[in-house]
Amino acid sequence: MVPVCQITQEMQMASASYTGGCLCGAVRYEISGDVRTFLHCHCLRCRKSSGTGHASNLIIKPDSANWVSGEEMLSSFKVPDAERFRTVFCSACGSPLPRIAPDLSIAVIPAGSLDDEPETTPVGCIFWDSRASWSCDNSELPHWPEYPQQ
Ligand SMILES: [Zn+2]
Ligand SMILES: [Zn+2]
Repeated sequence: MVPVCQITQEMQMASASYTGGCLCGAVRYEISGDVRTFLHCHCLRCRKSSGTGHASNLIIKPDSANWVSGEEMLSSFKVPDAERFRTVFCSACGSPLPRIAPDLSIAVIPAGSLDDEPETTPVGCIFWDSRASWSCDNSELPHWPEYPQQ
């Protein structure tokens, strides 16, 4: 007999399980479970670190993300004057990678690093006040000047 709790866990993983990795393929990861939110962030830090108009991140629970290979290739950078902002990337190819932060109770998954499209789509745009005028419009989505308000 398989304990009921174990069956439930397996079903949750099957319902939403994705793989992803960096451009060179050295770092691979998998995520499972519910997506808490999916946001475009137009802040200056996301623009600088992505080289594009905004970052697109899925937020999940930290224990829902696991490294499959290449964990030793991970580099990270914390912006010195930022309270929390940190980037995680492959030291060989520089691709943005998940930031698993149990201390903040979140894992931030760069949507573009996923192998396939997730079932969910972005629910809004944050740091809209920092948006570059040339960035994707996305104005059909809810947007907030900085962090989302409920
Ligand atoms: Zn790489
Ligand atoms: Zn940002």
